[in-house]
Amino acid sequence: MKPFEFTQGTLPLLLSIPHAGTALTPEVEQGLSEQAQGLPDTDWHIPQLYDFAREMGASVLVGNYSRFVIDLNRPPNNEALYATATTGLYPETLFDGTPTFKPGMTPTDDQRQGYLATIWTPYHEKIQQELARMKQQFGYALLFDAHSIASVIPRLFDGKLPDLNLGTNGGLSCDPSISEKLTDLCAAQSDFSWVMNGRFKGGYITRAYGKPQEDQHTVQLELAQINYMDETPPFSWRGDKAARLQPILKKIITTLLLR
Ligand SMILES: [Zn+2]
Repeated sequence: MKPFEFTQGTLPLLLSIPHAGTALTPEVEQGLSEQAQGLPDTDWHIPQLYDFAREMGASVLVGNYSRFVIDLNRPPNNEALYATATTGLYPETLFDGTPTFKPGMTPTDDQRQGYLATIWTPYHEKIQQELARMKQQFGYALLFDAHSIASVIPRLFDGKLPDLNLGTNGGLSCDPSISEKLTDLCAAQSDFSWVMNGRFKGGYITRAYGKPQEDQHTVQLELAQINYMDETPPFSWRGDKAARLQPILKKIITTLLLR
């Protein structure tokens, strides 16, 4: 299995989808706890949800492996991303705190070093290569990191998550004018609740590649899954709901492209 799928676009925009993958290595597959076997923390159906962005001309990068193998949106040194409860480069627990692996069935350090070299590193090299290419061609580059999560996870956040959770690393990952335009766009509609730099401020990808001083801008969007799928197994796509959500996603992407 290749570490990622990549489609080259025509716009100065890279859509990164690090958590939609469901591929497992043999040792992870054998080791997963019963609760983890359905891959509950996957960003389900995100490539399908953003099909329109590919049609618009965005480049699209999609990780193939599950975050239970290695989390592409965590730093390679496995520093904690959030001061509150979180999961790491090699998640030991599910979002709800349940162990990811059966006792004694966690992959070895050597196996994990292998995942870092053959899954994590190629994904990040591709991001770097594509952003560099865009900057050479257009003079600037935009990265949109697309995520989704169940709308209620008591261990990670209180109550029900807003529908749209935009993150710009507290304003550091993109030009202030981009944050402003996105904020204005969300404030002008009442169909979906939203927050800018709330619980989800942007993960490693948003933070590492957001360099507005170099005209390289990143934005993360963490979507509440309730607006396009069933949040319980088998996590089915809900076309009726997705059709309602996609217009605002398209407006967000279009606004980002205004830079
Ligand atoms: Zn995610």
